[in-house]
Amino acid sequence: MGSHKKVIIALGGNALQEAKTPATAEAQLEVIKRTSEIITDIKCCFGYELAITHGNGPQVGRILLASETAAEVTPAMPFDVCVAMSQGYIGYHLQQSLRQSLPKRYKELPVVTLVTQVVVDKDDPAFDCPSKPIGLFYTEEEAKKIEAEKGFVMKEDAGRGWRRVVASPVPKRIVEIDSVRKLWDSTILIIAGGGGIPVIEKEDGALVGVAAVIDKDMAAEKLAEEMNADILLILTEVEKVAINYRKPEQKDLVAMTVEECEKYISEGHFAPGSMLPKVKAAMMFAKHAPGKTAIITSLSKAVEALKGLTGTVISQYPARGVVEV
Ligand code: ADP
Ligand code: MG
Repeated sequence: MGSHKKVIIALGGNALQEAKTPATAEAQLEVIKRTSEIITDIKCCFGYELAITHGNGPQVGRILLASETAAEVTPAMPFDVCVAMSQGYIGYHLQQSLRQSLPKRYKELPVVTLVTQVVVDKDDPAFDCPSKPIGLFYTEEEAKKIEAEKGFVMKEDAGRGWRRVVASPVPKRIVEIDSVRKLWDSTILIIAGGGGIPVIEKEDGALVGVAAVIDKDMAAEKLAEEMNADILLILTEVEKVAINYRKPEQKDLVAMTVEECEKYISEGHFAPGSMLPKVKAAMMFAKHAPGKTAIITSLSKAVEALKGLTGTVISQYPARGVVEV
């Protein structure tokens, strides 16, 4: 390797599970097998040096629910531990599937998952207004009791009941980055799943896990910057980012400059918690150094988008050859 472009692929929820089927481990493996074929397509077409990161919302939710539901039998796991568990089983499925698909059509390559910690600032303002609901639903009375007993912040979740909410702080540093660098040339790495296990750093350097959710697109951006990647490829459900999304005047975008991203963000075109963090991550990546490109597209269109045929390309300056349609 060495002469190929470096690409960080951020896999969205649909690359790991189908929304409709029950989220069994077997069903997840079937979806991940299809995703691994697409990752293999990318390797076959371009030879890029790849690393993969992924979401974990439904998976970590499931682990947490199982753990909380069984609390009378065995103590519930803290949230950071649940994140670590989710990285483990998603990574395991990716390792197993890529080990099958790569040798058939490309060549045998080691694939390894790194249980990854990501440092967040203990003074991050997000800790003052936790917003991400996690775990079981409770009645208001139960929620108040938990709040008093455990010190958790509980909020009403869209008319469905009360839930614990945690902060979504900004990723500051990937703890295992030196190991990523050492392994990069030889291995396809699965890194910072679910945005990474959130940890804060004590004065003596000790790391302590916290209950928080780091946005996986922001963690992917951090990783792409740290690894001096050329392309940040964010794969989700939609082929292109749109303005006026789901309105009669919806317009799918072929490309956005950093300036346009800022404008559209301020005009509120991207839903918080879904498209907004993707556009923000893409914009930060395009901005941090000249010549860097982020692409947002659907999983199934990944190869076409890398060929420049579809997707939304985000770059510092207008992308060459792009014609607005
Ligand atoms: P993932 O699971 O892939 O990380 P999400 O499901 O959270 O991503 O976010 C992707 C979704 O964001 C799309 O499927 C789409 O429904 C929604 N979305 C919100 N705003 C926009 C927009 N302006 N353009 C395109 N998609 C949008
Ligand atoms: Mg999703």
